Amino acid sequence: MVELKTDRSIDAMREAGRVVARALAAAREAADVGVSLLELDGVAREVLRAAGAGSPFLGYRPRFAPTPFPAVVCASVNDAIVHGIPDGYRLRDGDLVSIDCGATLDGWAGDAAVSFTVGRPRPADLALIATAERALAAGIAAAVPGNRIGDIAHAIGSVGRAAGYGIPDGFGGHGIGRTMHEDPGVPNEGPPGRGMKLRPGMVLAIEPMLVAGGTDDYLTDADGWTLRTVDGSRAAHAEHTVAITPSGPRILTAP
Ligand code: MG
Ligand code: MG
Repeated sequence: MVELKTDRSIDAMREAGRVVARALAAAREAADVGVSLLELDGVAREVLRAAGAGSPFLGYRPRFAPTPFPAVVCASVNDAIVHGIPDGYRLRDGDLVSIDCGATLDGWAGDAAVSFTVGRPRPADLALIATAERALAAGIAAAVPGNRIGDIAHAIGSVGRAAGYGIPDGFGGHGIGRTMHEDPGVPNEGPPGRGMKLRPGMVLAIEPMLVAGGTDDYLTDADGWTLRTVDGSRAAHAEHTVAITPSGPRILTAP
C-alpha cells in the first residue's frame, strides 16, 4: 500500500528533511582524524534535539536486528557498507565514512546518507564516492511521473556496474512518509520499465550502496547490524528523500 502525499504533506516532509541535512552536515564537519563515531552521533543528536525532531533510528528494531538500534546515525567506516553502530572507534587518516541519518518532525520522516573521507583521501575512495553520488543523481533523475520503480533501479545499477562496482544484494531504498520505511521497495538494480508506476505524491528514499571490490555478497557483523564487504574492499552509500511531483523530482533532504 503506497500513500500519496498532498503538497502540504510534502512541504512538511521537506522540513524534516532539512533537519536531516543539517545533522549530516554537522556530523561531516565534525568528522576528522581522532574523532570517534560516538562523537559524530552526539553532534547529530544535538541537531535533532535543537530542532525538536525525533530520531526514527534510535530504538529501531527491524525483524533482522537482535537489538534496538542505539544511535541517531549509522556510521559505516571503510569495509562497512551500511548500518554501522557508532562506537568508540576513532577515525584514522584516509578512512572512508558513510553517515546515514533520519529525523521525524511534526509526524513526518526524512532519511539521507552521505559518504566522505577524513585526512588524506585515497583516490580510489574519491572515485567510489563520486560514483555513488552519480548513481544517486541518476536515480533521482528517473524519479518522474510516468516512469516506474524499475527505471530508478536501472538508472542506479547502470552507473554502479559501468564503474565495475558491486551492488549489495537485496538492499535498496524505500517509500517514506509518517514512518521511515514504507512501500514500495526501491532496488538498486534491475530492468527498466518494470514495477510500480511513479505518481505525483509518492515519496521515496533512494539510496545506492556501492562496493569497490565488485562483489554483491556481504557479511553481517556479530552485532547483527553492520553489513561488511566480503573481500575487505571499501563501500560508499549516498541517499536522499525525494518526492515525485508533476514538475519533477523534489529533493526533500537537500541542504
Ligand atoms: Mg538512510
Ligand atoms: Mg533509507
